Amino acid sequence: AAKNAGRNRYAYFTPALQVAALNRMRLTNDLRGALKGDQLALYFQPIVHLATGRIHKAEALVRWQHPQRGMVSPCEFIPLAESSGLILEIGQWVFHEAADWAQRWRAEVDPAFQISINQSPLEFQHDGGDGVGYEDWLRHLRELGLPGQALVVEITEGLLLDATATVSDKLLQLRDAGIQVALDDFGTGYSSLSYLKKFDIDYLKIDRSFTRNLAPESSDMALSEAIIVMAHKLGLKVIAEGVETPEQRDLLARAGCDYGQGYLFARPIPAAEFDALLRHP
Ligand code: C2E
Ligand code: MG
Ligand code: MG
Repeated sequence: AAKNAGRNRYAYFTPALQVAALNRMRLTNDLRGALKGDQLALYFQPIVHLATGRIHKAEALVRWQHPQRGMVSPCEFIPLAESSGLILEIGQWVFHEAADWAQRWRAEVDPAFQISINQSPLEFQHDGGDGVGYEDWLRHLRELGLPGQALVVEITEGLLLDATATVSDKLLQLRDAGIQVALDDFGTGYSSLSYLKKFDIDYLKIDRSFTRNLAPESSDMALSEAIIVMAHKLGLKVIAEGVETPEQRDLLARAGCDYGQGYLFARPIPAAEFDALLRHP
């Protein structure tokens, strides 16, 4: 924050910013309690196979029901969780919860059902030496008798751009466990395509800023088509984020996009609701 304040470094100490900093501290403190106090919930948003309209996958999205503030957006609390280190515990909870539901839905509804979870760069690069992370994941999968294929980890481009040895190792570990990898928010970052060849990625998620402006003959349409063709040539499946209208769905389907996700199909919903949707589509 001091860096963002730029030349006016003393601006950091103005009352408004002090209030913001205090607010962040309070919220971070509350987040610690939220983990213990059952205030986190995992919501699920269907990922729809565009050619058939069927739901074979879902993205797990964390929600925080704050006792006083109500629903706090992950956009607000994930950064706090990162700076406080709490993200590791949250990530562990998310993994366990997602794996448990995947196990249930594969056993009872669809043997190929897949759930994707999000990992922030800090989580992804964590070495797992403290029982949180990869070793714990493997143990949990073993206990459930769940194959890694039931899960997908969503990461963002930035991680691959300056890929360290830790990042490459982690990708190989996931591969060993059968866990798949999706590149989230594709098109918003540097979108250097060379890493799609270099790393083993299974899914490419076209960012919703592209989906939003889809129209026949538009430049975002051309870009999306090019991304889809390229991804398919490299053996990746494509998921379009933020599908809100039937027109967007149809344009994407016609361009050969494999899956769609967005408010047109469903918003992220609590597990019990998603369970009902899956059983009675
Ligand atoms: P994301 O992974 O790109 O997730 C997609 C976001 O788009 C979700 O926001 C979802 O609710 C929203 N969305 C889905 N369909 C539509 C649509 O049709 N229109 C619009 N306008 N939005 C749509 P959400 O749930 O608020 O999550 C925001 C971000 O927080 C996620 O972006 C992800 O980066 C992060 N996040 C969420 N859960 C977790 C988690 O468990 N761990 C980590 N590390 N990050 C998470
Ligand atoms: Mg995501
Ligand atoms: Mg995304």
